[in-house]
Amino acid sequence: MKWKSIIKDYTFPLVSMENVIILGNGIAGVTAAIYNARAELKPLVISGPEEGGQLSLTTDVENFPGFPEGVQGPELVMKGKQQAERFGARFETNIATSFKKISEGIELEFQDGKKLQTKALIITTGASARWLGLESEKKFMGRGVSTCATCDGAFYKGREVVIVGGGDSAMEEAIFLTKFADKVTVIHRRDELRASKIMQNKFFDNPKTDIIWDSQIVEYLGDEKKGVTGVKVKNVKTGDVTEVSCHGVFLAIGHIPNTKIFKGHLNMDEQGYLITENTKTNIPGVFAGGDVQDTKYRQAITAAGSGCMAAMEAERYLQSLE
Ligand code: NAP
Repeated sequence: MKWKSIIKDYTFPLVSMENVIILGNGIAGVTAAIYNARAELKPLVISGPEEGGQLSLTTDVENFPGFPEGVQGPELVMKGKQQAERFGARFETNIATSFKKISEGIELEFQDGKKLQTKALIITTGASARWLGLESEKKFMGRGVSTCATCDGAFYKGREVVIVGGGDSAMEEAIFLTKFADKVTVIHRRDELRASKIMQNKFFDNPKTDIIWDSQIVEYLGDEKKGVTGVKVKNVKTGDVTEVSCHGVFLAIGHIPNTKIFKGHLNMDEQGYLITENTKTNIPGVFAGGDVQDTKYRQAITAAGSGCMAAMEAERYLQSLE
């Protein structure tokens, strides 16, 4: 046989096979990693573009058991990562761009061209902040329009800001922003808040907060130099449009699940949330935990809980292959 032919026919073992890959290192991902690492599966955790997930963008977490004084979101998730590393979990940063079912398991391809194969996969890719989708939004992204009060709040010391949304996030961010801003106005599209009573009470008790009901932002105002200087707000009941002056707009209008690469492979609802049964997806060996599959609870503690369930299911699945 000629050398050329030998080289042509040889398949190089370019892709390594993992026991379990965990996509996403939010609280669901790190909890799955702790469990799978303690089971000596040496899980590989791939952190996506939002390192640490939503908790890394939040401040006080007061409802996670074990922290009577509360705990900072980034600290909670970072300590979870260290805990997983102590038992042998490995963490890398990359962005998965494709998902393929192969006979031995799953093959993933990443933005840098890397390919990995795994016998079991745990998806904890979470959900990313939703934007209003206005034409003027693109112009002001990062120049007055933000989806992260924790990240950008300090820029608004002594200024007036607006928050859009009526859930717990909107209340939490509004209260947080009063540390910096002189006035924080929530704009909500209905006449009733979705947020829990305790968060509403904290919001209404704060002298720096205000609320505009039944209204939607229809346009951001400002220019290249100054950034945002105000918003046009439409009352959805009367149709009246008014201008509200502000220097910053924070969007807290929910999230979109990060499931793009699984479309056509994994069952999902019309919003793109993965459909699971006890964390199992429709493909054997593929599990999901955390917000990527949770349309109902979406709490740090439930994300951690479902991450644990996914890890235990993955471990049982791997045992069944032996
Ligand atoms: P959410 O509960 O889904 O609330 C989103 C809010 O944005 C709703 O009030 C919704 O209005 C509004 N909204 C959605 N799309 C909109 C649009 N296009 N234009 C204007 N408004 C829009 O989301 P979240 O506040 O991020 O909370 C998510 C989960 O995390 C919840 O389970 C929450 O309890 C939890 N969380 C808990 C805490 C805490 O306990 N400390 C803190 C943050 C979040 P409608 O009400 O009219 O639908």
